[in-house]
Amino acid sequence: MRTVEEHQAAVAALLPLMPEEDVALAEAHGRVLARDVSARVALPGFDNSAMDGYAARWAEVASAADEPVRLPVAEDIPAGRTDVVPLAPGTVHRIMTGAPLPPGADVVIPVELTDAGTDVVEIRGVLPAGSHLRRAGEDIAADEVALHAGSPLGAAQLGLAAAVGVTRLPVRRRPRVLVLSTGSELVAPGQPLGPGQIYESNSALLVAAVEEAGGQARRLHFVPDDVDQFLSTVRAEVATADLLITSGGVSAGAYEVVKDAFAGLGTVEFTKVGMQPGGPQGAGTVDGIPVVTLPGNPVSSFVSFEVFVRPALRRALGYASPDRLRAPARLAGPLRSPAGKRQFLRGRYDGGQVSQVGGPGSHLVAHLARANCLVVVPEDVTELPAGAEVDVVLIEGALQ
Ligand code: AMP
Ligand code: MG
Repeated sequence: MRTVEEHQAAVAALLPLMPEEDVALAEAHGRVLARDVSARVALPGFDNSAMDGYAARWAEVASAADEPVRLPVAEDIPAGRTDVVPLAPGTVHRIMTGAPLPPGADVVIPVELTDAGTDVVEIRGVLPAGSHLRRAGEDIAADEVALHAGSPLGAAQLGLAAAVGVTRLPVRRRPRVLVLSTGSELVAPGQPLGPGQIYESNSALLVAAVEEAGGQARRLHFVPDDVDQFLSTVRAEVATADLLITSGGVSAGAYEVVKDAFAGLGTVEFTKVGMQPGGPQGAGTVDGIPVVTLPGNPVSSFVSFEVFVRPALRRALGYASPDRLRAPARLAGPLRSPAGKRQFLRGRYDGGQVSQVGGPGSHLVAHLARANCLVVVPEDVTELPAGAEVDVVLIEGALQ
């Protein structure tokens, strides 16, 4: 029996780092940066006003703290004004947020502290020298690294890239992942169900999981437990992929189509991993393409994807942090766990506490859909009282 870490390493070793490609900013959302990107310009690019108000010399307006000061308004500077007029002694400039600060000014008096005059302004209060100024380069200097390799590109990162004048970003190509479910009992959702039949759900689950991990998933129509049909589907499609994920057909029963079909090839290794759910696992290559074979129970498929495939995909994408966030949590109630197997129970984490959602059964998909974390119980722990501290893995895509 393999440990969780051993099988994680085996799966991760199958997927090389994806090649780089350059994409326009508009296409970079959700991707991962492949190389450091430097700022083309400093931010702010020039000293400017943080408020709508009046640019002044602090020494000339400091006494407004005691009694109002009246000064002529020599210039009006809206944002975007490009000529720079120095501040003449004994005057102020009316200035808007983001407009360049005139040389000579060392404070901006917010309009709220004045009578808002346009020819002459009455200043009724004053703030310390330097107030409401944004200094050139205080956010980032020109040529400084703005975004580091391995950063996920979300709203804030794309905003920064645009702000520093970058138009294209180096990212890693999204791995193309084929998802193939197996099972003679499976029926496509929307079709009538016969006796003993169930709706095929793992492909919907796995396609979404791949996309959430940053991959590009393609669902192959599921196949029955027929070795020839399974193998011909795999062989017809696998060459176009970076990874094939199968579900079902890898347990200890009879009619284990994935195991039976791949056993003859000798390039896929089937093992038991010391975890629950998701014990029976397989990994290897078919026609040179990486393959990971997940067990069919939907919760097992989900957890195995989380534990083995997601980190491998994210590593291949170059994520600086390929793993989920983890948090310590106090158990709301007691729990039991079999010896020798790491448990990944479904839980709801809230404010440092975690409650188990449903039992350990790996068929409990409705409970899975209500969970927002996996509760990790180590191999050597068989019982935990309420209040004990456990590690939880925070999963996305769940109800928050
Ligand atoms: P298997 O690993 O093929 O023995 O399947 C284990 C359990 O998961 C059985 O109850 C299957 O009916 C169920 N199962 C397998 N594949 C799927 C699937 N694609 N969608 C929903 N349930 C599945
Ligand atoms: Mg099956």
